[in-house]
Formats: sequence, structure tokens, C-alpha cells
Amino acid sequence: MFEIKNLLNIDLDNQVFIKPDYLNHPCISGNKYRKLKYNILEAKRLNKKVLLTFGGAYSNHIQAVAATGKEFGFKTIGVIRGEELADKIQENPTLSFAKQQGMEFQFVSREAYREKTTDSFINNLKNLFGNFYLIPEGGTNNFAVKGCEEILTETDKTFDFICCPVGTGGTISGLINSSFPEQKILGFPALKGDFLQEEISKFANNSNWELILEYHFGGYAKINTELISFINMFNERYSIPLDPIYTGKMMFGIFDLIKQGYFPKGSKILAIHTGGLQGIEGMNKTLIRKKLPIIN
Ligand SMILES: *Cc1c(COP(=O)(O)O)cnc(C)c1O
Repeated sequence: MFEIKNLLNIDLDNQVFIKPDYLNHPCISGNKYRKLKYNILEAKRLNKKVLLTFGGAYSNHIQAVAATGKEFGFKTIGVIRGEELADKIQENPTLSFAKQQGMEFQFVSREAYREKTTDSFINNLKNLFGNFYLIPEGGTNNFAVKGCEEILTETDKTFDFICCPVGTGGTISGLINSSFPEQKILGFPALKGDFLQEEISKFANNSNWELILEYHFGGYAKINTELISFINMFNERYSIPLDPIYTGKMMFGIFDLIKQGYFPKGSKILAIHTGGLQGIEGMNKTLIRKKLPIIN
């Protein structure tokens, strides 16, 4: 647990702490490790030998499934959005890492990828790859939520607010389920999405939560120079790296809310650092191409 001291150089009446949940495993980062834990046990129980999942070019989830498969002795298949990536594996740090871990790819067009949850799409995959254990895009299912219920521990009871980034909603659902009733869970969606409220309600069994919708920076993986300078300032000052897709946006949001006086005086705030640092390299390649400042 790290305390963020000298917040913004102003004497504020809130205390902010970071739980570095990305240090839980050397190469399966943060919440993706939590989300896979019980899925792996279930796949073993069902005697499956192959894990199949879905993701985009720089997906933390693809990275994590590839590394988990290698570690626990599963063959892994990644269904990847974007046919054009098939001959760009070497230039893409996420995909080349996944390949090194033994992942086999099936590249599909964006149109086909949208159909990935339909029976006909899944049956096609079964014809191609045989019997597999399917993990949804982003990894969220009941097993994933159960894993994320283990992020908070008894000692976290002292916090008034618990903050986390939100992608598909599995992580925040786990936090909600294991929180104490007097705590409030704030989710910072990394994308524009009206579906999240409903998705989280499917898994969460408490109502002590809220989504803060103002810090997606235009959508999933969209960033700007203000966010990059914030991430660089944060790392310089606190020696904690943030990723541009999830944790950077959340922490930017927390600081902004503090400045606005959102939190009552004396609040203790816990930010969950969910990992995602593997995505920095890929993002920097894009930033260099666009001649924009990079993440240090
Ligand atoms: C995937 C991811 C999230 C979002 O988790 P969900 O359970 O999909 O909401 C947050 N942070 C990081 C670093 C991630 O990789």
C-alpha cells in the first residue's frame, strides 16, 4: 500500500492510497490474474486442454491469457480483432509476447469480430480448434468476479471510498461484493458505454457504487497530451507507473474530483492499481508515429 503524499502540492483534506494489485504476479498483470484464477480451476475441473479468448491488438487480457496458459499447461488461442494484424505480429509488443508464450491466433475482420458471441461464430471456432474452454472478451464472467472479490482484504475496511478503472465491469463487481456497506465504490469507465450500469448490476450484490463517467477521454484507448503529462508527472513524483488505458484515466479522475471538492473532508480514498503496464509500449509506438510526447 502506498500513500500519495503532497497531493497536488496543496494541503487537501483527503488521504489517497494506492493498492498496487499489479505486483501480484511477474507477468500476468493485476486484475487479469484475478479474473483468470477461478476460470483456470474450472477449465482444469472440466478437463479442458485449450483456452480460447478474444481481444484487440494491445489487449491486457490477451497478454494475460497467453501467459496463464503457458504457466498452467494449457494451449491458448486468441481470436484477434483486425485481419491486418496477421503480418504485424513482430511490430506489436502484446501479440509478439503472446506468441512467445505459445498462443495461436485467429485474426478476424472487425465485422466478423462483432459476431463473436453468436452460436454460428462459436461453432466455426469449434470446427477449427476442437474442444476449448471459452473465456469472454475482457475475461468477465462469474468466475472472474469471484477472483476480484479477493482484491479487498480486512485491512481495507478503513477506507471510505474505493476507486477502480472499469472496462467490462468484472473487477468493480468483485470489489462491490467484498466491500463493507458503509464504503462507496467508484468506477471510472475507460470507455463510453451505457451498457456498463446494467452489466455491473448482473454481478454486483450491493448498491454502494457509482460510475464516474467524465474521464474516458473520448473512448477506449483514446488519450490526449494532458493525460500523458499527468501520467508522467505522477510517475516522476510518486514513482508509480500508470497505464494510459485504465489506471491513468482513473487517477486523473480522482485528482480532478479532489480538486473539485467531491470527497467529504477527511475521506480516506483507496485507488486500486489494476495493472495494464504492458500496454505502455504499444501506446508509445502509436504516439511516436503521431509525433506526440510519449509515456516515460
Ligand atoms: C481489463 C482492465 C481493467 C478493466 O477490468 P474490467 O473487469 O473489464 O472492468 C482495468 N484495469 C486494467 C489495467 C485492465 O487491464
